[in-house]
Amino acid sequence: MTNLGAGADIDVNLERVRERIARAARRAGRAPEDVRLVAVTKGVPVDRVRRAIELGVSDLGENRVQEGAAKRAALAGDAPAVSWHLIGHLQTNKAGRAAETFDLIHSVDGVRVAEALSRRVSGSLPVLLQVNVSGEASKFGVGPEEAGELLRAVSRLPGLVVRGLMTMAPLVDDPEETRPIFRRLARLARELGGLRLPGVSLDLLSMGMTQDFEVAISEGANLVRIGSAIFGPREG
Ligand SMILES: *Cc1c(COP(=O)(O)O)cnc(C)c1O
Repeated sequence: MTNLGAGADIDVNLERVRERIARAARRAGRAPEDVRLVAVTKGVPVDRVRRAIELGVSDLGENRVQEGAAKRAALAGDAPAVSWHLIGHLQTNKAGRAAETFDLIHSVDGVRVAEALSRRVSGSLPVLLQVNVSGEASKFGVGPEEAGELLRAVSRLPGLVVRGLMTMAPLVDDPEETRPIFRRLARLARELGGLRLPGVSLDLLSMGMTQDFEVAISEGANLVRIGSAIFGPREG
């Protein structure tokens, strides 16, 4: 991996990503501020994450609890105001650590893990339900037809506030191919919002990564999770 030390590549990349987000939002008739950038820092060394924070990144996404907790601790002095997002699969036995570490959990995909979080949370923790819209066996998340049942169950658990839905689209050559996936998630959020469950507001849609965030924004994403377009390709 190239080491530009000062992180000059991050400056350029971040500016480009922000421009692309703003352009995609405007094209969709939305305000650019309506789309929050979650910079995905898995595998990215702390000094490069610090550079992103200096450049104004306020939301960081990690897909492992351990790595997120370590980085949060290492950056606590530099970044008291940063929000930490868990975007990867959460195992029940890590729920306590996750509840302590993260400000928003994107990946609640079953009742058991939600119950584990609920037991360990102090105060209130916002969560998203991860939906496997594409149905790929390699992806976590509940099927769209099970999402209502999961939502009802999670909405009854103390300490958890369901704020929206998250999905990952399949890897494809042409990002346009992901559009039906994002459209389906947005529609599902509207349908489930129509249930008007107490304490549930499905206003967050976490969808879109480096390959497909512009399509996701045009379908209503307001949280985009972007790693390699900012920090460069990951090894391995
Ligand atoms: C790694 C990851 C991302 C970011 O992927 P890029 O293609 O690097 O933008 C987004 N969401 C999840 C769940 C991830 O694991």
